[in-house]
Amino acid sequence: SVSIVWLRRDLRLHDNAALYYALKRGHPVIPLFIFDRLILDPLEDRRDRRVEFIYQQIVWLREQLAQMGVPMLVRYGRPVDVWKDVLAEYPVVEVFTNHDYEIYAKERDIVIRNLLQERGIGFHTAKDQAIFDRDEVLTGGKTPYTVFTPYSRRWHEQLNDFYLKSYPTERYFASFYKAVPLPMPTLQEMGFEPLGESFPKPTVDEDLLLAYQKMRDYPARTGTSELGIHLRFGTISIRDLARQAQATSPTFLNELCWRDFYFQVLHYFPHVERHSFRREYDNISWRNNEAEFERWCAGETGYPIVDAGMRQLNATGWMHNRVRMITASFLCKHLLIHWSWGEAYFGKKLRDYDLSANNGGWQWAAGSGTDAAPYFRVFNPTLQAQKFDPKGDYIRKWVPELNSLNYPVPMVNHTFARERAIETYRKGL
Ligand code: FAD
Repeated sequence: SVSIVWLRRDLRLHDNAALYYALKRGHPVIPLFIFDRLILDPLEDRRDRRVEFIYQQIVWLREQLAQMGVPMLVRYGRPVDVWKDVLAEYPVVEVFTNHDYEIYAKERDIVIRNLLQERGIGFHTAKDQAIFDRDEVLTGGKTPYTVFTPYSRRWHEQLNDFYLKSYPTERYFASFYKAVPLPMPTLQEMGFEPLGESFPKPTVDEDLLLAYQKMRDYPARTGTSELGIHLRFGTISIRDLARQAQATSPTFLNELCWRDFYFQVLHYFPHVERHSFRREYDNISWRNNEAEFERWCAGETGYPIVDAGMRQLNATGWMHNRVRMITASFLCKHLLIHWSWGEAYFGKKLRDYDLSANNGGWQWAAGSGTDAAPYFRVFNPTLQAQKFDPKGDYIRKWVPELNSLNYPVPMVNHTFARERAIETYRKGL
């Protein structure tokens, strides 16, 4: 008999909760990863950074396991079909996996749990990607927080060594199932073209954390960790990272708190995936002009900081946080386009895309979210640029034609757009 550890957004052997519980139980453990057709097949762009990243990590994991004489099951299919095959091929007695908070994932897990339970196989899930789970940071009345500041106060109060301790998986590696390596599908067999992209390393140096608070708001500098993609797919342990932050940078630690907060919001308020957290915001008379949306996507709004951000996103799959706030605010307020359009565009492009944080960021910018600034506060893109890119280095890098005749005039006047936004919000709410 064997146990399966089903890896999803926890692509590492070190400090992995589900893997630890599986190995410790004692049945020989086989790791499984499923390239999920329900997620991959609808993707239009067959040169996809995130798919490439996952692929590279799986190849690497499989090699690490092969060096220990351990096979890894890597399959391409619908989860339920893959599971039926795996159960027919192996005498599985237990399955271990880590929690996933996204709506699709929760539904998928219910189907698989039922399938396993029908056959008398245990399905055990563990907290791994968050520091605090969905029911661990609640108000005195045991309800979820809807405002970040009191949530974060509670989160920091509760944080202690227990929550940041690593799971010592390495101690139990002898419990892995031993056999020759198994074949895995190629990217091409799954219909994707490799991009040959390289990604930031899953480490953060102490100097960056020490300078984080001072540097993190300047998009021209390397002031942030760029670890988003590693946190998204669990190629770095959140506990290791939080311990490092605790010792060096309270501000950075607080960003990890935001991450937990948005996981929790998505779990308790799943309507946010399709609707405004404050539902009345869906009733605003959004202009939703498609031609204007296209200009925003292409980085041709005539506002250099907005255009620089969108071009950075289009070229690299990443955008600095300050500029994410500016570009998102511009779309929602200056152009009066519903936040879900921008959310979907970021969702396609961001290599660190995470439904919870992306949705939270967009609803924050639109003013429709949990922790929203009042709607009459409208970012002025020109002042934001003066403050956060004072020498214009970031803008010059991404908008080199700025001082030539080729650069468009602003597609909308700021003062006019600001007044129009306030008036439209006021009427709609
Ligand atoms: P760092 O500043 O080094 O922060 C470290 C980590 O903390 C990040 O990797 C991330 O996991 C977490 N973090 C930081 N800020 C936030 C935040 N505000 N909310 C939640 N987690 C945070 N973050 C995503 O991970 N995925 C997204 O899809 C995403 N979309 C966003 C969309 C908008 C409109 C906005 C305003 C923000 C969005 N963010 C998103 C939050 C933030 O911009 C990114 O996490 C950050 O820019 C990633 O760069 P970094 O890894 O260098 O971050």
